[in-house]
Amino acid sequence: MLTVANTTKWLQLFTDQVNTNQDALNQYDTPIGDGDHGSNLARGTTAMMDSLNKADLKSVSDVWKTAAMAIISKVGGAAGPLYGTAFLEMAKASKDRPADDIAVQPLIDASLKGLLKRGGAVPGDKTMVDVWTDVDADLEKGPLTSDQVKTAVESTKPMEAKKGRASYLGKDSVGHLDPGSVSSGFFFESLIQEGEI
Ligand code: ADP
Ligand code: MG
Ligand code: MG
Repeated sequence: MLTVANTTKWLQLFTDQVNTNQDALNQYDTPIGDGDHGSNLARGTTAMMDSLNKADLKSVSDVWKTAAMAIISKVGGAAGPLYGTAFLEMAKASKDRPADDIAVQPLIDASLKGLLKRGGAVPGDKTMVDVWTDVDADLEKGPLTSDQVKTAVESTKPMEAKKGRASYLGKDSVGHLDPGSVSSGFFFESLIQEGEI
């Protein structure tokens, strides 16, 4: 179950992974995008942790709302509004839940619906939606594993991009991992790494 403490820890672990892999994320975004996904996201996650450390967080919903606001205000490009939407949906889905009964899966499910609506992508379009869709389904069956996350990220490689910048390349986008899916993989690896959720 999610608490203020383990949710904040999850986001700290995500921030650490984004910072450590900032250059790699930019490199994934170079052949099929504009090379800025790591820089975009690192700016956002750093601002997010600043906000979280300053805020008076009374609930899990407060954590996601604070995180969403920081990401939306700091991340330009497609990923900002998308992660922002995902986190805002988590805030909404956890808002009126009993404090000791906030499970991860319903929140991810709400985020995925928000992502689909906001970005207009469907599974198979080679976007972060692919990873969120697979993880959502995996979480429904039981605890998430690192192998499941890796499989979800790798599944974007053979896809032809239909949304976002990579779609401008058409068939030339085949054979590359989708950068937003790689960073979403970090997000879910961080959930596993947190260990207590
Ligand atoms: P930009 O493309 O504006 O430079 P980023 O590089 O930060 O933004 O983010 C690119 C990532 O955003 C892509 O790898 C993809 O996963 C995701 N993305 C782009 N467009 C969409 C969309 N319409 N729906 C879902 N995800 C998208
Ligand atoms: Mg980019
Ligand atoms: Mg850009």
